[in-house]
Amino acid sequence: MAKLSIDLKEGKLKKESDVIIGIDLGTTNSLVAFIKDGDPLAVKDEKGKSSLMPSIVHFQEDNKVIVGEIAKQKLVTDPGNTIYSVKRLMGKAFNDLSGHEDYFGYTIIDDDTESLVKIRVRDSFFSPIELSAEILKGLKARVEQVLDETVTKAVITVPAYFNDTQRQATRDAGKLAGLDVLRIVNEPTAASLAYGIGRKEEEDKTIAVYDLGGGTFDISILSIHDGIFEVLSTNGDTYLGGDDFDRKLIDYWLEQTGLKRSELIEQKDLSQAIRLLAEDAKKQLSFEEHFSGSINGHEVSITRTKFEELIKPLVDTTIDRCKSAMQDAGLTVDKVDHVVMVGGSTRVPLVKETVSAFFGQQVYDKLDPDEVVALGAAIQADILAGNNKDILLLDVTPLSLGIETVGGLMDVIIPRNSKIPVRVGRQYTTSIDGQKNLKVAVYQGERDLVEHNRKLGEFILRGIPPLAAGLPKIEIHFLLDADGILRVKAKELRSGVEQEVEIRSQYGISEEEMAKMLLESIKNAEGDVAIRALLEARNEANNIILSADRFLEQNHAILSEEEISKTIGLAGILREKVNGTDKDAINVAMQNLNDFTNPLAHRAMDKAIASAMKGKKIE
Ligand code: AMP
Repeated sequence: MAKLSIDLKEGKLKKESDVIIGIDLGTTNSLVAFIKDGDPLAVKDEKGKSSLMPSIVHFQEDNKVIVGEIAKQKLVTDPGNTIYSVKRLMGKAFNDLSGHEDYFGYTIIDDDTESLVKIRVRDSFFSPIELSAEILKGLKARVEQVLDETVTKAVITVPAYFNDTQRQATRDAGKLAGLDVLRIVNEPTAASLAYGIGRKEEEDKTIAVYDLGGGTFDISILSIHDGIFEVLSTNGDTYLGGDDFDRKLIDYWLEQTGLKRSELIEQKDLSQAIRLLAEDAKKQLSFEEHFSGSINGHEVSITRTKFEELIKPLVDTTIDRCKSAMQDAGLTVDKVDHVVMVGGSTRVPLVKETVSAFFGQQVYDKLDPDEVVALGAAIQADILAGNNKDILLLDVTPLSLGIETVGGLMDVIIPRNSKIPVRVGRQYTTSIDGQKNLKVAVYQGERDLVEHNRKLGEFILRGIPPLAAGLPKIEIHFLLDADGILRVKAKELRSGVEQEVEIRSQYGISEEEMAKMLLESIKNAEGDVAIRALLEARNEANNIILSADRFLEQNHAILSEEEISKTIGLAGILREKVNGTDKDAINVAMQNLNDFTNPLAHRAMDKAIASAMKGKKIE
């Protein structure tokens, strides 16, 4: 039975589609595809030109959001309010980005903590999840335009190396965009499916997926057994791609024309023009032997042979990574049955030849390398929709399972639609000094606050050694067996104390109730994400206030009166904001306190090292 929903913007009834869409949420570009008349189709933009949607979000003066091609045009004119490469920030803390901070032209908050990064746009703070949701909304709108139906279900792809947090972040982004994410699929798995590899159950195969995009390189070695894909190893370089080919070409032309790098830095237009020309040249050289053009009255040219000489070291680097991946998988190249090419940069003939030579076989390159992951995602979606009867659907858990954390937040441990049986472990710690007991409350559901989810049970882990908050290491294990029985175990690793309970997760819940819970979670996604952001900001702020207090106590001697009173003042402002409900105000106050105390903390550290060195003999 088709459902109807009301399109509030256009004020008309829209049919709710049965179609499940496949989404490739990429670093540079994203795509959406679905199965049309039995074949996967990547949906093109309104002009019918390209299926790629730049993964770029721009905030206009009035804070209105635009995405895709029109947002890309703002990269040059308004870089501070134009966010690219959000995927690199998914599920990351600032510390994870060390060494690559300069890569981003917008403001990423360095709060010197382990918590997830935020992006500052004027006086608002956004999580990578919220920004990715904007891209997903853009893709959803694109496909809805073509189908003239509302779509609510999707499969989204992620790199094979994405960890739990990054996968969960991607799911949350989907939810926020109004999508029920049926499954998160590995990009190399999707690419293989697009070529029909692994679609027959009896196949036993080993596959290498070589993915060279604009800014990243990934190699994944997969094995397929009984229709199940397993990632044997992954390797790559998160800062190597076609953009580096462009840079090599620019360097060459600077030499050719006598233009100076400083001229490029000073003249943004010139730098942009040469970058675009280099990319055009590179693309042309994939089909022709020679390119010539002009820049600012200077003639520039290059042959394919010269271009290949320039990029050879980069291509060789990717082969080194392939070697490592093969080694980690414990395989030699002759064991690889197929090699699948993914990403726009695999159109470069030298790349294809080098990869073919390394694996000693023809590579799969008939499909558009930009579209192949999205096409595979659409195929996976179609399998989940039950339209592909010859593929086995594995048993999955229908609702997410997790525990309550500080502030009443739901921390998902087993996401919904995970294949069962499944076992997942995660580490937690205490939030109060000297805490001896920890309540583990287990919930089922998709909402961000546990109060809106279904409580399955709780128990108390007793006998935790009384230590400062954050020191005990408590591992919580969820084991969900094929009958839907969940065993939850909590163990404090230092002392070894442990406690275990068994819960029936599916007991007493009907299909209708489950469907209702899912619907509620999507309807309330925006409010839920806002509350989560507020609670997380409060949490983080409380930790920072605590550290500031401790810091003042321990370092009184090396601080001036003025520094002490300013720190107390800033901490006071933060305390006041924590009691309010404005997460941006909390974030601003937190940043101000951090900015002021960071140099003081470094000074204290230097002093501590200096006094530790005193009295030590240096041999
Ligand atoms: P992706 O991240 O997969 O969208 O890959 C985009 C990258 O592929 C960019 O660096 C493009 O310049 C590059 N690219 C696209 N088409 C070609 C082509 N015909 N020849 C060489 N590189 C290309």
